Amino acid sequence: MAAQDCPVRPPVIAPATGGVDAPIVNVAPVQKILDVCRAMSLWPMTFGLACCAIEMMAVGMARFDISRFGAEVFRPSPRQSDLMIVAGTVTRKMAPALVRLYEQMPAPRYVMALGNCAISGGPFNFEGQYAIVEGVDNLVPVDVYVPGCPPRPEALLEGLFQIQHKITGRRWWPVPAEISGSLGGGA
Ligand code: SF4
Repeated sequence: MAAQDCPVRPPVIAPATGGVDAPIVNVAPVQKILDVCRAMSLWPMTFGLACCAIEMMAVGMARFDISRFGAEVFRPSPRQSDLMIVAGTVTRKMAPALVRLYEQMPAPRYVMALGNCAISGGPFNFEGQYAIVEGVDNLVPVDVYVPGCPPRPEALLEGLFQIQHKITGRRWWPVPAEISGSLGGGA
């Protein structure tokens, strides 16, 4: 089908909002302790969409062992999760379910776009396609993007470190030598 023959695509769904109300009582030292506790015990949702989910499963196995960083408790319910790892291709059919899952997560909540499909549609992003959401950030606010097709499990761990950094304001783990330049410094 020629591109000009494709029907105009309607909006997928109204995107979710990621705002969080300010706490009633905000004591800075207590908030810092809470932030560290949160960052070191992120609970990802058991939620995979395509091939990138295999890498997400691998990160829980002994070789990569995400439990070293406190995030091994994959929860079967969004109500018990504070990290959504969007691992795979987001179809327009799946979009309403994804937004609903995000909105059921308690705040503060975080989103990792894992792999090129979640970031931009990946190999399915071509002129005339009508089935794929071209980036999950069209649906929910994304905190960290982990590129690759698929990204390796180490890349997912680096994404987790970036979210921990975002929550606490500091990096907690040594920076591997091969990426320390691109991140602008050492441990
Ligand atoms: S980015 Fe590549 S490996 Fe990941 S879901 Fe898309 S096609 Fe599969």
